[in-house]
Amino acid sequence: MSFKDNKDYSEIRVRFAPSPTGFLHVGGLRTALFNYLFAKKNNGKFILRIEDTDRKRYVPGAIKNLISTMKTLGLHYDEGPDVGGNYRPYIQSERTELYRKFAQKLIDSGNAYYCFCTEERLIKIRDEQRKKKLNPIYDGKCRDLSKEEVEEKLSQNIPFVIRLKFPKEGKTIFYDKIREKVEVENSLVDDQVLIKSDGFPTYHLANVVDDHLMKITHIIRGEEWLSSVPKHIFLYKSFGWEVPKFVHLPLLLNPDRSKLSKRQGDIAVENYLEKGYLPEALINFIALLGWHAPDDKEIYSLKELEHAFSLKRINKASAVFDIEKLNWMNGWYLRNLDINYIVEQAKPFFEKSGIDISDNRKYLKVIQNARARVFRLSEITEHSKMFYENLEFTDEDKALINEENSQKIYSYFIKNLKITDRWSNEDINSFVKKAIGELGIKGKNFYFPVRLALFGKCHGPDLPIIFGILGRDEAIRRLQKLII
Ligand code: GLU
Repeated sequence: MSFKDNKDYSEIRVRFAPSPTGFLHVGGLRTALFNYLFAKKNNGKFILRIEDTDRKRYVPGAIKNLISTMKTLGLHYDEGPDVGGNYRPYIQSERTELYRKFAQKLIDSGNAYYCFCTEERLIKIRDEQRKKKLNPIYDGKCRDLSKEEVEEKLSQNIPFVIRLKFPKEGKTIFYDKIREKVEVENSLVDDQVLIKSDGFPTYHLANVVDDHLMKITHIIRGEEWLSSVPKHIFLYKSFGWEVPKFVHLPLLLNPDRSKLSKRQGDIAVENYLEKGYLPEALINFIALLGWHAPDDKEIYSLKELEHAFSLKRINKASAVFDIEKLNWMNGWYLRNLDINYIVEQAKPFFEKSGIDISDNRKYLKVIQNARARVFRLSEITEHSKMFYENLEFTDEDKALINEENSQKIYSYFIKNLKITDRWSNEDINSFVKKAIGELGIKGKNFYFPVRLALFGKCHGPDLPIIFGILGRDEAIRRLQKLII
């Protein structure tokens, strides 16, 4: 078996098959994105299948959340729980009858067996194996029970699981698009449980059955699943099915090279959206985790990625999740996407802070100013609230405000702004120049008190920006309040 990319398929079909055990995390998003891109690039189909057969780890609400996050990010699928398709249902807990039927086929063909071992026994053998530093795998006690023995135990209603009768000798050799040739000693592979005592299938059985029935051609998923491939291949072969192509994506690491784990909490995609990362930036950043563009270009829209993506440029080496790079990229998108889009995206953050942004003219200018200064949408309010709220001054500020020079400047502004009816950036610039000339106060002696009075801090945006946002009336009002 060798790896042929996509030439022989009448239709490329890939799937993202998350287990709804919590929020979609960045590793899951990377898997979803690469599947999506591969399908788009090859005019194939991208399928969402929910793998929820592990009832103990099931988290209510997780499916809804996952679907809405995928939609926010623009990862639309062709088939899935809420969009339907020829191979529905796309939620495994609605397909359980099917898995039992296939498990029975494996029993009948001698490729699976009933196991009646108790939990206590299994724990005991695992402990012993661990003590001897052996791989903890099932010892095969029930592997060769006779038909009669099995029937007797079944008639006594002894609880059972169904296990894969994985060969004990030889090697499994397979090809992975990224890992290339992989060889595994069969003796190291467990007799995987396929049907649990609660009647539900394990991931392994349900996954293989569905990938076959849903005509999946390429399995693109995280590297942590590589060790399951021998079991899966054995299942495909036992059923007499064609084995799909495997593509195991490199691990994601923290900058200190520790594994980016699900448990770190902070890696839920939803958290990133809440923190003010734009979908465009997240997609772009995640695309470059383990994949590189042909020209090493860094800024890619989803549409561009759909054209540029290729499995050939997925790296073998693990990819480091570098938050600094994400910040940089998000800042780039904040500055470069259409201003009206950023205006909309920023609104929920203002609403959360209770800032009244009903003056559209002012709000647009506020965003124009702030987006040049932040990495995340959530920081925008911090750079904008001074244009809306009453300013608060420290004692040190007050001392500067009360200085004779400051008072002179304020009075000059109030008087002359009142008679100015022109208000473009150039007008403000020439107004300021004239003030400096007429008052004979310059440099920080001029700018600090003005900025402090209007913006609340000595340092900040250029005066035309501040004046432009506040407008003449509000600027005069702020200055008037400070006259002693
Ligand atoms: N349900 C598995 C997961 O949660 C899917 C693994 C696969 O893609 O085969 O990641």
